[in-house]
Order: sequence, then structure tokens, then C-alpha cells
Amino acid sequence: MLKLRSYKTRPMHLGPFPLEGLKRQPVTDMSGLPTFAGISFRRPDDPQSIVNAMQDYQAMLDATRDGMVKREIAEIPDNPQDRANHLKAFGYYCDASMVGTCLIPDAAWLDSPVANPDVDRLADKLRTMQPKTLAAGIDVIMAGLRESMALPPVDCRHHTHAIVFLYDMPRDPKPDEAGSDWIQDAQDQRACLRGMETAVTFASYIRTLGYDARAHSMAASDVDLGALAMQAGLVTLEDGTLVNPFTGDRFGLAAITTTLELAPDQPLVPGQTPPASYQTGLGTHAKSARTRDPFAKRDYAKGPHPFETLKRVDEPTTYIDRPNVARVPKRANMFARGLFGDMGKHVQEATKNGNYVRKSAAAFAFRPSLGAFVLLQDGDAAPVHDSTHDTQRNAENIKAALYFLGVDAVGLSACPDWTYYSHDAAGAPITPYHENAISMIIDQGHETMEGASGDDWIACAQSMRAYLRFSLLGGVLAQHLRNLGYTARVHSVMDDEVLHPPLLLLSGLGEVSRIGEVILNPFLGPRLKSGVVTTNMPMTHDKPIDFGLQAFCNACNKCARECPSGAITAGPKLMFNGYEIWKSDSQKCTTYRVSQKNGAMCGRCMKTCPWNLEGLFAEAPFRKLAMSVPQAAKALAKLDDRLGKGAINAVKKWWWDLEMEDDGAYRPSRHPVNQRDLQTDLDLQFADQTLAVYPAPLAPPPYPWPAPMDREAGIAAYEGMIDAAEHMRRRAAGQP
Ligand code: SF4
Repeated sequence: MLKLRSYKTRPMHLGPFPLEGLKRQPVTDMSGLPTFAGISFRRPDDPQSIVNAMQDYQAMLDATRDGMVKREIAEIPDNPQDRANHLKAFGYYCDASMVGTCLIPDAAWLDSPVANPDVDRLADKLRTMQPKTLAAGIDVIMAGLRESMALPPVDCRHHTHAIVFLYDMPRDPKPDEAGSDWIQDAQDQRACLRGMETAVTFASYIRTLGYDARAHSMAASDVDLGALAMQAGLVTLEDGTLVNPFTGDRFGLAAITTTLELAPDQPLVPGQTPPASYQTGLGTHAKSARTRDPFAKRDYAKGPHPFETLKRVDEPTTYIDRPNVARVPKRANMFARGLFGDMGKHVQEATKNGNYVRKSAAAFAFRPSLGAFVLLQDGDAAPVHDSTHDTQRNAENIKAALYFLGVDAVGLSACPDWTYYSHDAAGAPITPYHENAISMIIDQGHETMEGASGDDWIACAQSMRAYLRFSLLGGVLAQHLRNLGYTARVHSVMDDEVLHPPLLLLSGLGEVSRIGEVILNPFLGPRLKSGVVTTNMPMTHDKPIDFGLQAFCNACNKCARECPSGAITAGPKLMFNGYEIWKSDSQKCTTYRVSQKNGAMCGRCMKTCPWNLEGLFAEAPFRKLAMSVPQAAKALAKLDDRLGKGAINAVKKWWWDLEMEDDGAYRPSRHPVNQRDLQTDLDLQFADQTLAVYPAPLAPPPYPWPAPMDREAGIAAYEGMIDAAEHMRRRAAGQP
């Protein structure tokens, strides 16, 4: 559902609902508050319920809701209001519907904390688990989890302040709706899981800044979440029921309690209705009565974006020489090459121990959960459930479940052998094992991207947030498929064995873009991260899409012009390892991303692309014209420049530019922050670029030891690349 007005003038901490339009009062009467009782994730009598598959993930979050507080106190603003605004904006960035802050009232502490019984079960499982993963540092993650789960609970009543997250619920799935078999009666658990994803990340963030903090969920809590939500001005008590003016009683809650002083919100005056701007949709807030629920008039299986309007084609719009795709070892991944020193000492230093993530406090907050979930991404399958023999029904159930949970786009395809790496992280050959792939994309968030340069101190957190979302939701789906009798493996940023871009292409989630290995989606642009679950569950497949992007990128050079490392080609598509792509210089890109000093990581290509859109009604003509009149691409790209699209909107900057220093403390970075203007005067020419590529013949051996890159050979390899027509001609003539 497209928005009528832009949110470009609205500061991020105000959030998507116009909470600021509601009346407040200094105190609230909590007498008659319903008793807070934890919710259960056990549905033994309903094996088709996705709730069963959430069990371990919720338990993992509940098990990691507390942790070590960093000794070194960060240098952050003293003003409690600045802190509250910052943390609210962070909450909205994590897609909370509403965020409030408060002093913790005595009445909110529970006499007996609510405990999630699945935490003990998970702890038992972890004690004997041999993880089926070769992710770097997995032994350290395991040891840390085992140690923290063995610790006795610590009282947190010395915490003074709370941050409360309210998660809205989309409509209930209809019983006769295609794809609704697995998602009935799962709203509380969905909201609990999503809320706790945010709360655990926040608690980790605040502890990293040097303040005590613990996350509380609807399944494991020391506090009455309803009482905190009342105190923080998110809900009121109406006839014995907690209600929110916008969502009624349809919401889930999570919170953190902390010793960090924050400006509190005031409680709401009971009995209010939403402000007029919410009803008309004419406010600057993203959510209105029209846009609140993207599924209000759509089946879950169709997703929030109108994929049904796109042209489907039998083959992707870029050529893949399927029989001759060169499989490469995981060791050829640029981050692995950095870690082993192939790109020199300074890249190795920046890559080891995840230093390029660790240096940013906001990015590092997502890292513990990402590490913990990697333990759950594979496992054994239960006996096959009778309901799973219809391939179309399986496809609809998979899509509906993922969209219900919060994935932004889903595509299903075969998982051909050539999409697998040749060797795993230890150097052992990989024999392709699953025939089907479920590809997912997660939006990196338009609003935060608006305030960013793409390569400043939020860039790495933008990636981490999306990677964590996939690891959680893709992980739940994979577990559910295993529960129903099929093997299923998550391929996450921490540990994957398939290449994502070709699978995204085959499943119709986008087309190849000039950025290189980034698949561009017509509704999210390149502003996305992907994840894949492979499985042997039978399912019908989607087809590739054609929305005219090849002509558009041919005429548009903006990402190449704006790339800070000069890694994106301004030239034509060429054949690389059997794929026709605009091949970027991954060595330059990775070197810049991990070792640049003026921010953490980089996604400037995503930021500046004309397809990075807000989702406004006024943008619909752009998309229509770009898709249907390829000749207009050059003019549209120029218009995008003239409108200043891709520039930084300072109103949207909410994060702190904190960098970890040598003593371990986070402080405002001493390096000048990347705040870039568009380079509209630069006329970048392919002939002036020096790019290198490392195709299969230049890939390192599959084993985990150093294999320095030969840049001269890489440059020669780029110069030797040919286009698809010449490639086909040579193949037809029997030439290599
Ligand atoms: Fe294609 Fe232009 Fe976007 Fe680059 S900036 S991916 S060339 S549309």
C-alpha cells in the first residue's frame, strides 16, 4: 500500500505512528491490570503450527537476554532526552511499531519472574550438540553460550529505567486462505519473537556501552510488560484490557530494563482515538489507517509487494552458461581471503575477529544473536507429515509463513548443482544435497538509508540488522520444514554453501544490476540483504522476472560514479565464471569496506541508486516508466540527479558515530565521518578504470591457508573478459 506523503521531514525517533498527537498525563492508575503470565511455544498436538519451530529461537533469545557489561564506559551524550531519542530511533530502525521509555514503577517488578521452560531444554541440547557448521569462531560461541546458560539468575531490581517495544499484529490469517495452514493462532508468538529480537539486540548494545541492561519477553521476564507499557505511554487500561489507540488489543510487547538514565515518556490519557492525520493518511508518519497492515487486502502468500504485476520469463534476463558455470571454493569468498591475509596485512587486521563489525557499537549489537542462531541452522528431520505432498500447497504455505513472520520478499526455485560452492570452509568437497531453494530478501530500511552516506557509522549495522532478521526468520522456516519431515539448511552470512545471487535470479526476486553481484528488486531496489534455505521438501517454483533493468542500468551509471572505492564498472556486462554480469572489482570493494577509517563498511551503491525508493504514491510513475520505456532510463537517471535523490537527509540521522578505541571503549570517532555529496559533475569512463577480477583459474586452493592475490593477474583477467555474444560464439565453435 503506497504512502500519500513523504516522511522526509519527520525525525526518526518519532516513529511510524503519530504517538506525538496523543494526550498524556503525569500518572496512571494500574489497579485492575491483568496478571502477566508468560506465553508458550509448545504445540505438540498441532504439528503443522509454525509456533513449534519458533521454540528454539525464542529460547535462544531468552537465554541470551543478559550478559557481561563492558567495563569501559562509552562516551555518549549526557542529556537523557538525547539518549531516549537515540534509542527510540534505534527501535524504529529495528521495525518496532512503537517505542516508549519510563522509570520502572515498583508495581512492574514481578514477585516471581516468568521463565521460559524451553531455555533449560535448549541448554541441555547445547551441552551435547556437535554443531553442523564450520562458521568461524563457532567453538567460542558454543563455549560462551554454555557458560552463560549455566550461570544462576541475577537480580536486576537495581535497574531504574525501561525501554518498551510494541509490535503491531497484522490481520489474522483466514482458515480458508491459501497458505494459511501453518500460521493459524500464532500472533502472540510472532510478536513475542520479533519484539525479543529487538530487545536482545538493545540490551547487548547498552551493555557494550558500559551500562547494565536485560531484555524481557512475553515468555521470560522479571517485569510485568503491561505495567511498563502503561507507564511508558504505549497502552491504557480500558475495561480490564490493555489497549493501544492505533492497534487496539492487537500487539505484543518486549522491554529492556537498564541502569542507563533516559528521559521518560508520560502515560497516555485513556479513551483516546488516533489523530485525524492517521485516518486521512495525510500526515508525515509512515503508518495510517490505510497503510497499517499491508495484508489487509492481500493474501499472505502473495506478500506485501505486488509481484503478481511483474512480467515472468523462462530464463533470467542475463545469460548463464549453466553447463559451464565454474564452481569455486568458499575460500574464494573475499572476506575469507581478507581473513587469511590474501589482501595484505591491513585488510587481515581489519577482518580478524570481526573487527570491521566490532569497531561500530551499533553494528556489534546484532552480532551475538547472529552467532547464536548459526547453531540452529541445520538439524535432523522428523518423519514426513501427511499434509506435505502437494507441491503448490507447500509453496503457498512457505511463502505465507515467511511473509507472516516479516520477510520482505520470497522466491522459490530449483537449487542447481552449479549454485553450490565447490568446497566447504575446511576444504572438503561439497556434494550438492538439496534440490530446492527458498530465497528471501530483507529490506535494509529506507528511512535510515536516507540519513546515511552509505559508508558512515551506520552502514555496517544496516547489514547486520538485515542478516539477523534473515537468520531468525529463515531459521524458523527451516526448523519448521524439518519438523514436517524434510531436511532443510539455512545459508546465512555466518555460514553458507550456496551462492545467493543466481538463486535470487532463478526465483524471480530481481535482475542483475550494474552494482555487480547485487540483485536489484523492483520494489526495494538494491537496498536489501539475501538469505537462502535449501531443502528437499517438494514445491512449485517461481519464474525469473523481467522489469527492464538491463536497459536501465545500461543507461545509468550512478552507482559506478558514486562508489567511493571505484570498484563498480562503468563498462558493459561481461562473462565471469559462466555468468553474464557487470563485474565489479571485489578486491577494491572488500578492501574499502573492511578497512576504511571514516565509517564502518559501505553500501553507497544502494543508497544512491534511483531504485532506492521510499514507497510513495508519487513514485509509481517512475517505476512504471522505468519498467515499460527502457529508452527513458537515461533521462530518468538524470532527473534523479537533478532532484538530489541519493543525497543525505540530515533529519534522518539518529545514530551516534561511535568507534571502539584501543582501550576497548566506544567514543565519538576521531576520524572525519564520511558525509558525501553526489558527484554529479564526474563523467566516469570505463576506459579510465583499472579493475581486477579473480575468476576460477585465479581462485585460491580450497584449504584454509594464505594464498596472496596477484593483482596484475587480476587486471589481466578483467581485460580478457568477453561479452555473452562472443562467449556463445566461442562455445558454439568448441573453443574455451
Ligand atoms: Fe543500475 Fe543506476 Fe542503480 Fe547502478 S545506480 S544499479 S546503474 S539503476
